[in-house]
Amino acid sequence: MPKGIPKNGVNRGWFKKGYKMPKKIREQISKALIGVKKRPFTFEHRRKLSKIHKGNKYALGYRHTEETKRKLSKIWKGKHLSEEHKRKIKEALKGKKPYEITERTRQKMSGAHKNKRHSEKTKEKMSKTHEGKKPYKMTTKIRKKISEGMKQVMKNPENRKRLRETWKGKKHSEETKEKMSEAHRGEKSYLWQGGKSFEPYGIEFNNQLKGKIRKRDNCTCQECDINQKDLGYKLHVHHVDYNKKNNNPDNLISLCRSCHLQTNFKREDWTNYFSQKLWNKIKIKGS
Ligand SMILES: [Zn+2]
Repeated sequence: MPKGIPKNGVNRGWFKKGYKMPKKIREQISKALIGVKKRPFTFEHRRKLSKIHKGNKYALGYRHTEETKRKLSKIWKGKHLSEEHKRKIKEALKGKKPYEITERTRQKMSGAHKNKRHSEKTKEKMSKTHEGKKPYKMTTKIRKKISEGMKQVMKNPENRKRLRETWKGKKHSEETKEKMSEAHRGEKSYLWQGGKSFEPYGIEFNNQLKGKIRKRDNCTCQECDINQKDLGYKLHVHHVDYNKKNNNPDNLISLCRSCHLQTNFKREDWTNYFSQKLWNKIKIKGS
């Protein structure tokens, strides 16, 4: 046994930084390794491996059959955690705060990219990478899908409320506002109705009338029931038949901004819907 290896087998000082194996040992190891080469798999071995993986359920790319999927879903359906299991989970979570980002982490995260700019060299590289490439453009199909999904989400007043909370107090910069307004002005707007909104409102459609309608509607959005107080702005007064000259109270209804926005689609449906709503209201009051 070479010097330096304690007899009790505990390595002390071996492989520490800077340790150099004695020449004698190095020679012995290299001798022992002569003829031992890393060989690629033989043809026979590869054939065997391929055979093993053929039909292997767990190999890459395997998909459950529809039949199996049905079975699995059946198995999981109706499986609930046992009371014992639930109790254990509850016990384990006792006193534990829900996951929370600490102030320190938040600061770190926000600071990580602050004031960091790509170097001129990196910028040059990046621009070269994108040279000749088309800018990414969402297909109409994807855009439509997102929009549909968003509509579904925004139908839920709970979600709308959450979004409002998120944006509360956050202000776009003047520059951003200018850009946004420019981007959506007039014919560029997805709400463009061929210049209809430039039709003058009927003379009577003033703040006094709007105030009356809001009061009649208990200052709540007649679609989602949110109160003006919670909104932080005055409810919109919507023309049910979209005719801005028709300022008959039974053609006017109070809506929050989100609900009012929705009325820009499927106009006919909304007209019918709100007419019915107002009609029912009048009937209840009259009876
Ligand atoms: Zn609403």
